[in-house]
Amino acid sequence: KQEVVTIDGPSGVGKSTISRRIASSLSFTYLDTGAMYRAVGLKLKNDNIDLGDEGAVRESLMNVSLQLLPANQGSEDVGVLLDGDDVSQEIRSPEMAMVASAVSAIPAVRQKLTVMQQEIGKKGRIVAEGRDIGTVVFPNAAWKFYLDAAPEIRMQRRADQLRLQGKQVDEEKLLAMIVKRDHDDQNRTIAPLCKAEDAHTIDTGVLTIDGVVEAMLREISR
Ligand code: C5P
Repeated sequence: KQEVVTIDGPSGVGKSTISRRIASSLSFTYLDTGAMYRAVGLKLKNDNIDLGDEGAVRESLMNVSLQLLPANQGSEDVGVLLDGDDVSQEIRSPEMAMVASAVSAIPAVRQKLTVMQQEIGKKGRIVAEGRDIGTVVFPNAAWKFYLDAAPEIRMQRRADQLRLQGKQVDEEKLLAMIVKRDHDDQNRTIAPLCKAEDAHTIDTGVLTIDGVVEAMLREISR
């Protein structure tokens, strides 16, 4: 088995916070694959690519450079350099989440990012979070988790985060976006969001973050 911890689940379930904590406890590298989908979404948007034109998508991504940076002060999220430009802030908006979700259904995008992620996994021990990590990217991972929680709870957490960043929040709209993104992520034909057969499911709606992290570390050290 590969020395990788996979953490999959829908948006707003606490994956990033929990993944970061697990990675730092184990001294593994944290890999935020959602940040890669967001950055690629931004790239295709900036290049004005017709998302229905797979050839154009492939060409735009041919020489794309993505560099993940450790989270910097004042932010919990990892940063991203897209073709050398710092897009760390720009990719975190709810709108860019929807763009990421849209481009993530394109086979050329998934192929490209899956290979990049597997290359990163060859270089060292990682905690990787996303939607298809335990199922597609690292099917031989030693430790697999699937985090879940009710949409209302996930919306509330996202709303709190956005407010902390000084943003206005329309809760109804945010909930609708989360429900749509879940639906799209679960129903796309390629690498849909689903639990790997051998993943441990954890409901993050009933436990504290500390409780979830403890339960996972216990499972990993067994
Ligand atoms: O996790 P995050 O919210 O940053 O992901 C943004 C979007 O990227 C998700 O809604 C999903 O559509 C897509 N994604 C994916 N596969 C991954 C990670 C993210 O399809 N491994």
